[in-house]
Amino acid sequence: MSDLFLKLAKEHGAPLYVYDADIIEQKYNEFTSAFDVPKLDIHYACKALTNISVLSFLKSLGSKLDCVSVQEIQLGIKAGFQPEDIMFTPNGVGEVEYDDAISYGVNINVDNLQMLEYLGSTYPDLKLCVRINPHLMGGGNSKISVGHIDSKFGISIHQMPLVHRLANKYGIVINGIHVHTGSDIHDGDVFIRAAELILGAGESFEDLEYIDFGSGFKVAYKPNDFYTDIKKFGSKFSEVFNDFCDRMGKSFTLKFEPGKFLVSESGSFLTSVNVIKQTTACTFVHVDSGFNHLIRPMFYDSYHHIENLSNPNGDDKLYNVVGYICESDTFANDRIISEVRKGDILRFKNAGAYCFTMSSNYNSRYRPPEVLIREGKSYLIREREKIEDLLKGQNLIQF
Ligand SMILES: *Cc1c(COP(=O)(O)O)cnc(C)c1O
Repeated sequence: MSDLFLKLAKEHGAPLYVYDADIIEQKYNEFTSAFDVPKLDIHYACKALTNISVLSFLKSLGSKLDCVSVQEIQLGIKAGFQPEDIMFTPNGVGEVEYDDAISYGVNINVDNLQMLEYLGSTYPDLKLCVRINPHLMGGGNSKISVGHIDSKFGISIHQMPLVHRLANKYGIVINGIHVHTGSDIHDGDVFIRAAELILGAGESFEDLEYIDFGSGFKVAYKPNDFYTDIKKFGSKFSEVFNDFCDRMGKSFTLKFEPGKFLVSESGSFLTSVNVIKQTTACTFVHVDSGFNHLIRPMFYDSYHHIENLSNPNGDDKLYNVVGYICESDTFANDRIISEVRKGDILRFKNAGAYCFTMSSNYNSRYRPPEVLIREGKSYLIREREKIEDLLKGQNLIQF
């Protein structure tokens, strides 16, 4: 693989994003085979990585789509998804965006009572899904909590009577319930407890067809990092879900919306080394990129493993890897990497999810190209930007 990465960096230049479709397929299969339920839908949460060729590949695997904006819906349709296979799950958007989404015919998930009233009164025949916040705190640690009390997402589980009142008033058919708060699933048991609360709330929705448990599945970023054991989780979860179906005498569709789990590990970010700067305190590696291309380390303190593809057998040394943006722009501190030289190509791992999609043109730099590899063949799925892209839509007023 290293040789292929180096070849692609030479061919397309660095910085460059590369995604391995074979790994996406492997993760997709790992996810779907973990659950043993009659009806399972995977809605890939496309905000993780929206390139339309990646969307089209996920569609070919059988995935459906989860979108958080109308623009993501448009990309999904462009990639070939049918509107009925798309969930629209925004947070706090306005009526106009809901109207737009409804005009595409996608499934609508409602995240507050005000919008439920608007949609119920405006679209009497529209089936709706409601997003529920279960307010469950896991082990006293807010990091693993699922929908804790101050989370902005969803309708409080304590407000279900109000949901029913509105549904009765406007004759709203609620055919789905949903939960997703973005927490990592460190503790499968906490997630299952939240699921039991959601299923309990589900008992009172007589038109229920599906239950969507969102996501929160964690992948390993560091060597020996924690990750969700999807096989173990899936088997426990399936039991709880199947019990619910038995109890209700109906087989509901189980939905999940993984983003990171499906695409994080497929991605690599390749960047070249501009300068090595030795100070009295440390050694800086300046790469030809910055938080304009990969912001997770600066934004979330995320760890991305870094390999030197050009010198894999060099002596291990300690480096601070930094970018070229004119403010604090550190990818990694005190990182052991095999000896780095000017012009070497470094690979940042786990660059599939929330990397390209969070990139920007800050400092008026071009966003990098994207390449997709499938069964040994590589495809350029996005061109490097040009000055025309930066000027697009700007009007020059000459004073
Ligand atoms: C972001 C998001 C997801 C995906 O989360 P991951 O942690 O990437 O798996 C799923 N559902 C909704 C509603 C989201 O907003």
